[in-house]
Amino acid sequence: MGAALARHAPAPVQALISTLMRAQLELVVAGLDGSGKTTLVRALRQETAASEPPLPTTGLVFHRTRRAGIALRIWDLGGGRRFRRSWSQQAKTCDALIFVVDATDGVRITEARQALQDLLIETGRRTLPTLVLANKVDLVSADRRGTDELGVCEPVIRGLGLDERSPCAWCVLSVSAQHGTNLEKALRWLVLQAHASRTDAAQDDDTIEVGAAASLRQRVQLRSAALQRRLAWLRGGRHAFTSLRDALIDDVDEDPL
Ligand code: GDP
Repeated sequence: MGAALARHAPAPVQALISTLMRAQLELVVAGLDGSGKTTLVRALRQETAASEPPLPTTGLVFHRTRRAGIALRIWDLGGGRRFRRSWSQQAKTCDALIFVVDATDGVRITEARQALQDLLIETGRRTLPTLVLANKVDLVSADRRGTDELGVCEPVIRGLGLDERSPCAWCVLSVSAQHGTNLEKALRWLVLQAHASRTDAAQDDDTIEVGAAASLRQRVQLRSAALQRRLAWLRGGRHAFTSLRDALIDDVDEDPL
């Protein structure tokens, strides 16, 4: 019933319902070495500016933090060639991918494109919501940036080969992980995309319980599991509502995090 309502509701209401379902996001942060992944994760975790400069990530590092009422589970993946093969393991189960590109480094964009394509193919999730962050925008001259940042994003979109035929929901944002520029906007996009893609999964769960082959006992168990889930969603609802409101308000101040 809830699933049917969600299915027919307008998009913003669907987003609200799905956000209420779960206030947790699992994110994978990938990208070439030196693109700024660790700096980004530090900014998301609101680590102080006094922290030591980041060391190259070897393998992968897992972090938990909380932003705008959302529990973030973040995998910071080493960007060196020898680590890239293992990226897909984490990406298989995450809600969304953050792919960090150094916007000042046009030379390595082809390598970044290959790495992104390999990752999406190897996970078997070509529709994984993908947020590309054109990082280090603070180093790009105002002339090149332009008024709407297109001067930064456009070469990245082209370089990575993203277009309307790309199967995943994607978005490119110019950011500065070091200064926190545009990171709130990035979080808003992730929240909306990840929860939107999860609505379908929730609908699938609910339809199992009316399956003709399910025994009464199975149905009771499934119903009870569904109730437990809803209870968990409601418990997280207050925070989730706040974050959805933040996510939907486009013109909030873009203060550094
Ligand atoms: P990773 O290898 O992808 O994890 O990259 P790091 O986070 O270690 O960053 C590589 C280098 O780029 C470091 O010297 C960072 O201080 C620097 N860096 C990262 N993000 C930014 C940014 O937004 N602006 C500037 N100016 N430098 C950045």
